[in-house]
Amino acid sequence: MIKRVTILGATGSIGTQTLDVIRTFNKEEPRFAVVALAAGENHSLLSQQISEFRPKWVSLKHERDLEALRHQLGSLAHGIEFIAGEEGLQVLAAQSDADLVVNGLVGAVGLIPTLTALRAGIDVALANKESLVIGGHLVRDALEQGGAKLIPVDSEHNALFQFFKSCSTEEISRVVLTASGGALRDWPLDKLDNVTSQDVLKHPTWQMGKRITVDSATLVNKAFEVIEAHWLFDFSFERLDVVIHPQSVVHGIVELCDGSVLAHWGAPDMRGPIQYALSYPERSCTPYGKLDWSSLRLEFCSLDKRRYPAFEIVVEAGRKGGAFPAVANAADEVAVQRFLKGEIPFTRIPEILKAALEAHKSVVRPVLEAILEADRWAREYARHV
Ligand code: MG
Repeated sequence: MIKRVTILGATGSIGTQTLDVIRTFNKEEPRFAVVALAAGENHSLLSQQISEFRPKWVSLKHERDLEALRHQLGSLAHGIEFIAGEEGLQVLAAQSDADLVVNGLVGAVGLIPTLTALRAGIDVALANKESLVIGGHLVRDALEQGGAKLIPVDSEHNALFQFFKSCSTEEISRVVLTASGGALRDWPLDKLDNVTSQDVLKHPTWQMGKRITVDSATLVNKAFEVIEAHWLFDFSFERLDVVIHPQSVVHGIVELCDGSVLAHWGAPDMRGPIQYALSYPERSCTPYGKLDWSSLRLEFCSLDKRRYPAFEIVVEAGRKGGAFPAVANAADEVAVQRFLKGEIPFTRIPEILKAALEAHKSVVRPVLEAILEADRWAREYARHV
């Protein structure tokens, strides 16, 4: 049976790698049909993707880019439904007749399409962190409402998801996420005030976008992943932990109630988790994620809270719930931008997060509009504090 796939964020890192995997899978025999592609502003790359994969639905952020895209496509544009903006994302998420929506969008804009697809009963392969970080309880409700599945694409959660498939929650006593520790892991603490954006952007093991690379150095990314794991697996924060693992080969660890420890090993290549999510519930044999492990030396150590003060601040926002995680996410995004522009030192990032969270007025179980409002407020706050 051919699986119909919609890809949101098609020209980004997750989107292009998803198409890579689909191309490889389809070489042997046609297994996937790409029914819809949504991108932001890169209409040139989207045009190439459309020529190759022939989706029926296409969306871009701006109407003017859609015009340029239609022009580029010429006669290939016939029979394609074009829609612009956030409305386009929603329509593609629910109406493109997909079996699986791959959400590779970056930012809070990814939340609504996740909810829309899940409510419509369509499975989602989720790479958009914000969906669970800022809207965890809404995603849970949408899962219940639509009866669909959520398959995490983030490498750590994908690893843990594979354990949760074979063990019950009661059997698992502790879940441990691994963190590389980022580019500044071995820097002297008293030098952190003076690090430049170039220093931080040299991530030791993963090739990623700028924000997430900075978030790896502050461990804010890992704190978000703890919040994601909490919502994904219905696991309390007390039973979620993080260890530093510089080689990024072990992605997730679970301790079972009988003392056994299971660890998921894999190459640091996002196409591994992507292929798992595409093939789920089956497992496919492909060239991705193969790991030559026989000569590896692996290290694990507990995280030094003095080096990563932002970690605890953001996990605490997750524990408090409400719109606190949305505030942490928005304030972090702005603080990281300000650091990358050279406006603030690296060590100011956790201070901005802390200030924004302290100034935020909490709401219990916020509706979507309240979350988006908290997001806007925190951006404004972090820009000026
Ligand atoms: Mg990750």
